[in-house]
Amino acid sequence: MQYDVIVIGSGPGGYVAAIRCAQLGLKTAIVEKYNTLGGTCLNVGCIPSKALLDSSEHYHNAAHTFTTHGIKLENLGIDFGQMVKRKQEVVDANTSGISYLMKKNKIDTHFGVGSFKDKNTITVKKADGTETEITGKNVIIATGSKPSALPFLKIDKKRIITSTEALNLTEVPKHLVLIGGGVIGLELGSVYARLGAKVSVIEFMDGIIPTMDKALGKELQKVLTKLGMEFYLGHKVTGATVKGKDVTVTFDTPKGESKELKGDYCLVAVGRVAYTDGLGLDKIGITVEERGRKITVNDHLETSVKGVYAIGDVIKGAMLAHKAEDEGTLVAELIAGQKPHIDYNLIPGVVYTWPEVAAVGQTEEQLKAAGVKYKTGSFPFKASGRARASGDLDGFVKVLADATTDEILGVHMIGPRAADMIAEAVVAMEYRASAEDISRMSHAHPTYTEAMREACLAATENRAIHI
Ligand code: FAD
Ligand code: NAD
Repeated sequence: MQYDVIVIGSGPGGYVAAIRCAQLGLKTAIVEKYNTLGGTCLNVGCIPSKALLDSSEHYHNAAHTFTTHGIKLENLGIDFGQMVKRKQEVVDANTSGISYLMKKNKIDTHFGVGSFKDKNTITVKKADGTETEITGKNVIIATGSKPSALPFLKIDKKRIITSTEALNLTEVPKHLVLIGGGVIGLELGSVYARLGAKVSVIEFMDGIIPTMDKALGKELQKVLTKLGMEFYLGHKVTGATVKGKDVTVTFDTPKGESKELKGDYCLVAVGRVAYTDGLGLDKIGITVEERGRKITVNDHLETSVKGVYAIGDVIKGAMLAHKAEDEGTLVAELIAGQKPHIDYNLIPGVVYTWPEVAAVGQTEEQLKAAGVKYKTGSFPFKASGRARASGDLDGFVKVLADATTDEILGVHMIGPRAADMIAEAVVAMEYRASAEDISRMSHAHPTYTEAMREACLAATENRAIHI
């Protein structure tokens, strides 16, 4: 079987690359080692986590905020089995949607582990042990990532777990000890805190979501503390042991004292590493970076071997589904002879807690470090009519604009529907809008998006109307 393009891995990077290749008239195959398509994102990542986040948020509101809206409920309870079943139905609907898209675009799907025989030949080893060979003029590696482990801490997948197991528990933990106050920890921690678990977060850095603008982490910590989560910041985990149904996690305080926490589950969420096992990269001379095992690529996302590209979590940059998708499109268009472009500065980042956290562009810390002169405009949701009506008063929108030109350099928001609202900031920055440009555009009233306009007004000569 001969193809113009073979894509290895069917996550958001791989399947989007395959579809774009097919749209451009290239004969395309996709190889996937699991028996469903969609990769980490659809099977054990973005989609199942958001399904559980939505279900747990409904429960939390029913238990805690409905009464303020004048809604009375009796005998409220959790059917966790149904919650998990629904999550799986959402996953199944999405993954079968990808199978449909492969057929629609006439992309051949080969299930099995793909490995390089040579730079144009991929051996596909199926689950039953049989092998087939396919050849391609170009190969796109989109094999994604897997959870990082700590060298001194064994993940038994029963009591000491990764996000994959945390999405498939059969009970709500009584006490979930979380290692890592990053995106996965806080999203899945929120799910279980809302369902009644005690959640303790041990984070190595001095703030949660430490790579985002510091103001966001501070506000999010305040809100999650109200939800009942507790935080051990600047603490260093030293080990974890399992005895029966108990996990004991030991860690050092910033002063060097040793402490321990006992829970029934420990979720290790300390990042992810590129996944290249079994690909046979050494056979064709592709090397991986020592740290994070990422495949090295040039600006065209081509590896050191001509005609072999790599995209998504397996290469440098943010490990985000939409970043992988954009890279899939970019490589397909490059192979077809087009001249596509990605602005990595404008890839938004979102944390799907409630309130949601979303950001794009430069943080205040980055602007300071680069010596850029900037001005700030902020608007709190407690001053928004829409947020008052819904009762979502936590959070703010912060706009950073160039002190001289007024060009928007970064937007950082925490608040209701921030995940959707950040799109306005991306569009504005893609077109190099100034804060005043956004201030002068009509925003429907009452909407949460007015907070973006108000923050821009605040950055424009302190002209916010409602604060
Ligand atoms: P993946 O989605 O990891 O797909 C790689 C695929 O390659 C897998 O299906 C794998 O089985 C296959 N594969 C690997 N090796 C081989 C081989 N040799 N042969 C054949 N197939 C192979 N990102 C967001 O943007 N938003 C979110 O809300 C979000 N939530 C997340 C929640 C969780 C719990 C997790 C774990 C991640 C989340 N992410 C989220 C990150 C997102 O899932 C990844 O960034 C994204 O899936 C990366 O896409 P990819 O195509 O590079 O790789
Ligand atoms: P992360 O990098 O977001 O967070 C890991 C956290 O663990 C960091 O805060 C880090 O300081 C901390 N940490 C590292 N070692 C530690 C240790 N020994 N003790 C205590 N804390 C330690 O990683 P993640 O949350 O595992 O997520 C992995 C990837 O998946 C991320 O790159 C993220 O982009 C992606 N993801 C994205 C979303 C989303 O877009 N909403 C959701 C989930 C995951």
